Amino acid sequence: MYTPKYFKAHELVPKEVYDLFIDETMIFGIFDENALRILDLIREWSGVGLTVNNWFWKGNRNECGFRPNNTTTGATQSAHKYGKGFDIISPKLTTVRFWDLINENASKLPCKIRIERTNGGKPIGWLHFDTMAAATQKDKVYYFNA
Ligand SMILES: [Zn+2]
Repeated sequence: MYTPKYFKAHELVPKEVYDLFIDETMIFGIFDENALRILDLIREWSGVGLTVNNWFWKGNRNECGFRPNNTTTGATQSAHKYGKGFDIISPKLTTVRFWDLINENASKLPCKIRIERTNGGKPIGWLHFDTMAAATQKDKVYYFNA
């Protein structure tokens, strides 16, 4: 199990999942370790605070990390449901800047990743990365359209 340096458990799961755990440090066990490592790396490369979920501070982001299987949010086989995907925003960074940071540091990624470029034909306004790379993925960073 990997415990992130920069993110608390409540930032990575919905409130209804958070409330199921007695020991919140165990929550990190539901995630892919590499996905958590990459979350910390992106935080280090960007040098600014990043937001995944913010429900803890009364914000409206609740399913930007792990998503339970019964959610109506996102794709049926979303990486979020396997603890392998995160949606990240920052008022200080555009989505393109996030992509540039990842491309510049791609050799330091612990595994291949995928990045969502568009959704329904529209550019997305956040960084979605996941560790659901297919065995056939050649590039360290693969951009897909959802
Ligand atoms: Zn996503």
